[in-house]
Amino acid sequence: MSPDKVRVRFAPSPTGFLHVGGLRTALFNYLFARNSGGKFILRIEDTDRARYVAGAVDNLVNTLRWAGLDYDEGPVVGGDFGPYVQSERLDIYSKHVGTLMEKGVAYRCFCTPERLETMRKEQEKKKLQPKYDRTCLNLSEKENRDNLAAGKPFVIRMKVPDNITIKFSDIIRGDVEFSSERVDDQVLLKSDGYPTYHLANVVDDHLTEISHVIRGEEWLSSTPKHVLLYAAFGWDVPKFAHLPLLLNPDRSKLSKRQGDVAVEDYREKGYLKEALVNFVALLGWNPGDDREIFSLVELEKEFSLEKVNKSGAVFNVEKLNWLNFQHLRSKPEDEVLDMLKEHLTGTGMDVSRYTDDYLKEVITAMRERVTFMKDYTEKGPYFFVPPAEYDPEVIKKRWKPESAGYLKRLAGLFLSLDNPGKIDFENALHRTAEELNISNGDLIHPLRLAVSGMGEGPGLFDIINILGKEETVRRINAAIERIK
Ligand code: GLU
Repeated sequence: MSPDKVRVRFAPSPTGFLHVGGLRTALFNYLFARNSGGKFILRIEDTDRARYVAGAVDNLVNTLRWAGLDYDEGPVVGGDFGPYVQSERLDIYSKHVGTLMEKGVAYRCFCTPERLETMRKEQEKKKLQPKYDRTCLNLSEKENRDNLAAGKPFVIRMKVPDNITIKFSDIIRGDVEFSSERVDDQVLLKSDGYPTYHLANVVDDHLTEISHVIRGEEWLSSTPKHVLLYAAFGWDVPKFAHLPLLLNPDRSKLSKRQGDVAVEDYREKGYLKEALVNFVALLGWNPGDDREIFSLVELEKEFSLEKVNKSGAVFNVEKLNWLNFQHLRSKPEDEVLDMLKEHLTGTGMDVSRYTDDYLKEVITAMRERVTFMKDYTEKGPYFFVPPAEYDPEVIKKRWKPESAGYLKRLAGLFLSLDNPGKIDFENALHRTAEELNISNGDLIHPLRLAVSGMGEGPGLFDIINILGKEETVRRINAAIERIK
């Protein structure tokens, strides 16, 4: 392998939805590959059959596509190093385990799960590190043969060297050392014939010429086992980069089981892929200055593993919301128009009732107020339907017994205006206030309530200019009738 050929992989296990932590790992691998002109590979690690969830691979592939993280090799797209799904590579793993057996660094273990459990409990009682006690390491040829002939199930374990220091260097964490005393005689091949994560991971990273292993910090403690396996095979180790843990704001570990951390959930809640990608990019990485808003293309240019920090990255939903607002705000008008139509249709509205120009005016008025597309209908429902009710708090504060009379007069003046614009509505209101000898506010607040049913929103004259003279007057009359 030429050392400057970058090949990285995202290697999820198909155990459910893609977690935001998984998206971060995928993104950092993707960005590193794009930034260094290398290849980004998707590999499915599905050798733990008990945790396999049907449909999870499709979900992973679709979620990566949705986020814009196109991979160069992997399931569906193929590539020269396939298959990219581990359950389709079983013969490769058993061949490699055979090699380790021949080299004398792996052995069969016939211990039953019950025996292992008893052993583990005893070790726990004695406060010892749980570790396989090597009962089967020294089985004779004959014992091995007899057990096999008796059809006893077995696993294959690695013989971990005694008393050595396992060293490796991590791009993010620097030099790391583990004593081999802390490493168990790990299982390489399970009794069902499937490899363990460790074996399959190392064999595949080697055979698919992975140059950099970029993954979450939770895998750091597996790395010594991997380093030992590379050494046992006589292979070079790839470069490692373990990404910092994701933390809740209280600095507890962000857990997959906390439910609301599947990318799918965020997508359904209306987060934009641009915002989510930008957000996860900042979970452990920063550009070295205070810029925070990035497109995927900008991230591809800026990203470097050297700028990833070691310390845990706090997952702050407010920041994600802010990024969603920023990305939504900076989208081209035509794109937001399509999104708005889709959103309105999704809420059961007939979008053909509104012209594109009308909807674009609504977009201009609401742009600074929407974090999610749903805010268009939640914060500005009156652009689409007349108010069905009026906020009782606002009535209490702003609607006086005289308001109806004032508004009636204002409506009369509005009706007399010929094709009025925003400034004409505004002038008419000022004139009416003057004639009635009241403040502008005595008209503005009841008028806002009458046309929108609410006490706040974009500029009032923007709203009535968008609604138009007739609709505004209709709403004033309806409010006069209904607000008592
Ligand atoms: N299958 C592991 C996971 O689910 C991959 C870890 C690694 O990248 O080595 O995250």
